[in-house]
Amino acid sequence: MNKITRVVFTDIGKVTTEHNETELPPLKAHEVRIAPAFFGICGSDLHVLAGGHPFAKPPLVPGHEIAAVVTEIGADVDRVSVGDHVVVDPIMACMECRACKAGRFNLCEPPQVAGFRAAGFARSSHVVPARNCHVAPQSLPMNVLAFAEPAACARHCVNRLPKSALEEVLVIGAGTIGLSIVQALRIMGAGVITVVEPDAHKRELAVKFGALRALAPGELGADERFTGVIDVVAAQATINEACTRVLAGGVVVCMGVPNGPREIPLPSMQRFERDLLNSGMYIPEDFDEVIAWLADGRFDTRDLVTDVFPIDQADKAFQRAKEPSSIKVLIQFDA
Ligand SMILES: [Zn+2]
Ligand SMILES: [Zn+2]
Repeated sequence: MNKITRVVFTDIGKVTTEHNETELPPLKAHEVRIAPAFFGICGSDLHVLAGGHPFAKPPLVPGHEIAAVVTEIGADVDRVSVGDHVVVDPIMACMECRACKAGRFNLCEPPQVAGFRAAGFARSSHVVPARNCHVAPQSLPMNVLAFAEPAACARHCVNRLPKSALEEVLVIGAGTIGLSIVQALRIMGAGVITVVEPDAHKRELAVKFGALRALAPGELGADERFTGVIDVVAAQATINEACTRVLAGGVVVCMGVPNGPREIPLPSMQRFERDLLNSGMYIPEDFDEVIAWLADGRFDTRDLVTDVFPIDQADKAFQRAKEPSSIKVLIQFDA
């Protein structure tokens, strides 16, 4: 018998940390057993906790952003070894559909993502397919590695923009993902980055991470236009702003998660080839690339991780994550 600690959303709004004695399940040939060290709380976890997520309702074990140690490997596993530090891609792809065969596992339907429709990672021992594991250098601290998932979201988003759209980029919204996108834009060679964000501290961070300017909503000049606009909010007002701030021939990327249908100004978009693209999650190469960014310090998480709570205070951690003054809240498993 083994002692397993896990975080459970027992009901809407209720978070508990449970300790159980259980038998560990045997590994299949392609699986690995992992011991998470840290996991990050995401806005989408809060959405599930509040009962507002379309596919996932309490009770469930949350968690899709983790840094973990590999503790056991299945008979056929050769891409990871026991003791490796890994990030685990939470997309449990079917590997059979058209999207999976094209390597676009983020488009596999219906999506089986850990912490939503698939078992969450917020447990001290878990079994995952080896192919979901991305190995990080041992020198990279686990609390930094835990940021790989949001960084992968950001890298994927910036990659959706064609090179020509990267000359002058507007980012609307500078929370965890917006600030990660600013860093990804800088690392990936964007020209001038402008940010619109209501919170003054987050505006300061946007400039620190590479934006030339960070403005409060309403402060942009009336005729300022951009080659690329990334809407990290996806409200009606922001998608409208994005579509009207983009130059003819430019590209808008919707990165925020809209909570319903949105109108877009199609006449001016159609006539002047303003394209609207979307970004949802990431593909495996995004993880490998951001692990390299985190390892050599190009991507800086120090101002992004505002809090770390021990696993037994998971309820407090989720409370803290709801406060707008927090950015990324981590939960630490017992060492
Ligand atoms: Zn997330
Ligand atoms: Zn699939």
